[in-house]
Amino acid sequence: MGDSVLLKVASWLRENSTKDWVYGRLGGDDFGICLPAGDANLKQLERRFSRYVISNGSIEHRILMHMGIYKITEPEMDVSLMFDRAQLALTSVKNEYNKHIAFYDDKMRNQVMWDQMISAQVEKAIEEKQVRPYLQPIVDNNGQIIGAEALIRWDHPKEGFLQPETFIPTFEKNGMIADLDKFIWRSACEILSTWTDDKANLFISINISPKDFLFMDVFAEINSLIEEFNIEPSRLRIEITETVMMTEVENRIAILRRFRESGFIVEMDDFGSGYSSLNQLKDMPLDVLKIDMKFLSSSKNSQKAEIILRNVLKLSGDLGLSALTEGVETEDQYNMLSQMGCNLFQGYFFAKPMTVGEFEKVCESKVA
Ligand code: C2E
Ligand code: CA
Ligand code: CA
Repeated sequence: MGDSVLLKVASWLRENSTKDWVYGRLGGDDFGICLPAGDANLKQLERRFSRYVISNGSIEHRILMHMGIYKITEPEMDVSLMFDRAQLALTSVKNEYNKHIAFYDDKMRNQVMWDQMISAQVEKAIEEKQVRPYLQPIVDNNGQIIGAEALIRWDHPKEGFLQPETFIPTFEKNGMIADLDKFIWRSACEILSTWTDDKANLFISINISPKDFLFMDVFAEINSLIEEFNIEPSRLRIEITETVMMTEVENRIAILRRFRESGFIVEMDDFGSGYSSLNQLKDMPLDVLKIDMKFLSSSKNSQKAEIILRNVLKLSGDLGLSALTEGVETEDQYNMLSQMGCNLFQGYFFAKPMTVGEFEKVCESKVA
């Protein structure tokens, strides 16, 4: 069937091209075409690609076709570079079902260059501690700080102070997130090991990317860290999102169970913002639900948002889980949540993420 699809595309090209076109099969299922801009009837192509069917006897096969286009503005440019750019445009629509054609633009190229640049620098950034965890306080019903979430920051010598959204997606794509996360987990353990006396009961929550599970034995890695630093497992809380459960469900459940059996506290991050959360909740071994205020704040209907919050909090209580609301920005939100039975809070209303030193100072001033 694959061969006949290629033959069909080839004969379609032969029949519809003029002598001005240059075209051929580049390899695999890739074709390259160079043609005068005016010859490309994109509307017609998009229509054709949206239902490309090949028949095999009475059976119809739908073929998903995509096209990446680079419009030549610098004719002296190397042809292979032009194809690279068309290929980049193609990559941007490759997984789409409703859109089949994409044009190259400089943003795509800039993103690729950015990805390459920061990926090449990550090892050095870890070595030189340009990358480090910030801590955002987590408070209880009485407003007491009981712990913190470790959030990564990159103090880049040229690009300035980088927030995670500028580099985490890149490293989740290429797998380097595993190195960053290992470093942040280690840093969190190092910090915990220095917290004695009045800070001996504080915990740190660490973020685990779903991609981490593909590159290492997450449990073994974290367990060896707490042994090395001689830390109570309950002081290192494990934050996972429900996307962790999208593949190898049984295996992932077993890993979470091992964490809990060894005394770690397992938290579900961003609850309610992803897929099939309620179904996951039934099977996932958990201690804490982290509910994000942000997913409710975009809704204009605050009454409905309140009903959802109230019921999620009730649900977590009924399931025997603690509820932590993050993204708490105002006193009104804090009061409302407290009345609804939420026990843990995190958000700008209490404090923004801060350096470890700042966090320690805040804790000391509270005690004094
Ligand atoms: P997250 O795990 O949901 O972390 C909470 C995010 O909400 C943080 O953003 C925090 O700064 C922000 N936030 C806290 N309180 C408020 C508030 O009151 N209002 C608003 N609008 N935002 C608030 P941040 O630090 O930019 O981190 C973004 C995301 O990057 C995190 O979301 C997490 O998914 C990821 N991330 C951060 N550090 C790490 C890390 O070390 N490893 C991995 N794998 N992911 C990380
Ligand atoms: Ca988190
Ligand atoms: Ca979150």
